[in-house]
Amino acid sequence: MVKYKEKLEEQKVFIDGEWTMSSKGDTYSIINPSTGKTFVECQKCDVGDAKRAIDAARDAFDNGPWPEMSFEARTKIFYKVSDMIAEKAWEISKLDASCNGVPAMQHATTVMDMAPHFKYVCERAKELAEPKGVTGEFPMDQTVWREQDGVIAIITPWNVPFWQMALKLPSALISGNTVVFKPASQTPISVLAVAGMFEEAGLPKGALNVITGPGSVVGAEMAKSDKVDHIAFTGETATGKGIVQNAAGNLKKVTLELGGKSPNIIFGDIPVDEAAKLAVLGVALGNGEECFAGTRVLVEETIYEAVCKKTAEIYGSLDVGNALSLKTKIGPLVTEEQMKKVLGYIESGKEEGATLLCGGGRLQEGELKDGFFVAPTVFSNVSNDMKIAREEIFGPVISMIPFSTEKEAIEIANDSIYGLAGGVMTNDRAKAIRVARKMKTGNVFVNTWHVTSWYMPFGGYKQSGWGRLAGESGIEEFTQVKSIYADWGGFTKWLLKTLLLH
Ligand code: NAD
Repeated sequence: MVKYKEKLEEQKVFIDGEWTMSSKGDTYSIINPSTGKTFVECQKCDVGDAKRAIDAARDAFDNGPWPEMSFEARTKIFYKVSDMIAEKAWEISKLDASCNGVPAMQHATTVMDMAPHFKYVCERAKELAEPKGVTGEFPMDQTVWREQDGVIAIITPWNVPFWQMALKLPSALISGNTVVFKPASQTPISVLAVAGMFEEAGLPKGALNVITGPGSVVGAEMAKSDKVDHIAFTGETATGKGIVQNAAGNLKKVTLELGGKSPNIIFGDIPVDEAAKLAVLGVALGNGEECFAGTRVLVEETIYEAVCKKTAEIYGSLDVGNALSLKTKIGPLVTEEQMKKVLGYIESGKEEGATLLCGGGRLQEGELKDGFFVAPTVFSNVSNDMKIAREEIFGPVISMIPFSTEKEAIEIANDSIYGLAGGVMTNDRAKAIRVARKMKTGNVFVNTWHVTSWYMPFGGYKQSGWGRLAGESGIEEFTQVKSIYADWGGFTKWLLKTLLLH
């Protein structure tokens, strides 16, 4: 596996069991957002490279050993990979932190948490693949078989590169599908590292292919290709809509994990200090660049002013710094472009009349001078029709909205095109579950946030996506079911005689 260095050697892509350059020899640079310096050169693949990778996966599925291998044999490979990931967790975390600016410590908790997922899927997939006999008043054997989808194209975003890979790849591969993987251009290193681990663990060639390069070229080809059976995409809602259009050619299966603008409802029975900490917890991890960040904080008016003040005090005082420093709680945003986008949203908040309580601009003092740092920012007096309440900012910005009744809180929470996550903070258990059930979101956190477990399905309602990752649902998503009717008695003879041959 590639070892962390301030500047890595040029990375190749993995096609048909070979580490190779892009066919035209083109590369692109990834800039370390903490320092503004080049971290690594990667292959800039084109449509031809995407076709090579897809062909390899197609051939490996149609003719290779992987789809026919026993679950026991596949499990051995997965266990080795899981152990390698656990052993290299800190190395992987530093690599991802140097690409996307999320603190390495935060990556490390995700990597350590996801390593066992590679083991969990083995047993669950084997159980799910067992044929299920169906009983009922029917004069034949009826059996439901769960089978592979075929060639899976996986496309992931830059914000949680390892997590997104680990939610999709093991669930896709374990059932015997083959995979073409395109990680985000900004963060391919950990996915390339895991491809190397699968190679070392003995995965047959072509079963996993990883390519890098522009999504609009390489990713679009993966979505369009008739040789792909299923595209599993995570990214922006707008990109997801393009995937659906491109996938229409062969009506391939599409699963989508898309954007969010999650409401965090805080009721008045929560003490102010605790309420403010829960507001910060919902947003602070991952530099606020998280799909399920609780960026719309809805606070009951009885405690609204006090919670806003305290939230700004806590969030505004978190350590901002280099993503590799163990002290850092908020790192730089992934790219200069993303930083400018977030600063644009902050300006729009000011223009639309929200009250800026802390932050509100770029940080460039001392060691931050060449990085893409934005100060943790809190706006109060936000109304749900402002841009900062409707659109996904994807940065360290909290928008605080007051409400007066439970009904109003639910209405505001659900007034969004997104439906990925929501939160309910109250000590009243009945109220918490009542409100959680009314939220039109795929995940709800009660008195917590950021606690996704891979035993539980993860995904969104509305424009936050189609399908679920993780848990049993995540494995099922990469399979299809077949119904087999078998007549071992005389029913078909009776049918022929009664309906046709009398
Ligand atoms: P993005 O949509 O710009 O890119 C995502 C991936 O799609 C990248 O690999 C990119 O190269 C590729 N891509 C870009 N254009 C493409 C095209 N035309 N065809 C095919 N692929 C293309 O998203 P991003 O900026 O990398 O990530 C941030 C977004 O991801 C946010 O909206 C966030 O909410 C979402 N996200 C969702 C989840 C979830 O589980 N729901 C998790 C993480 C991130």
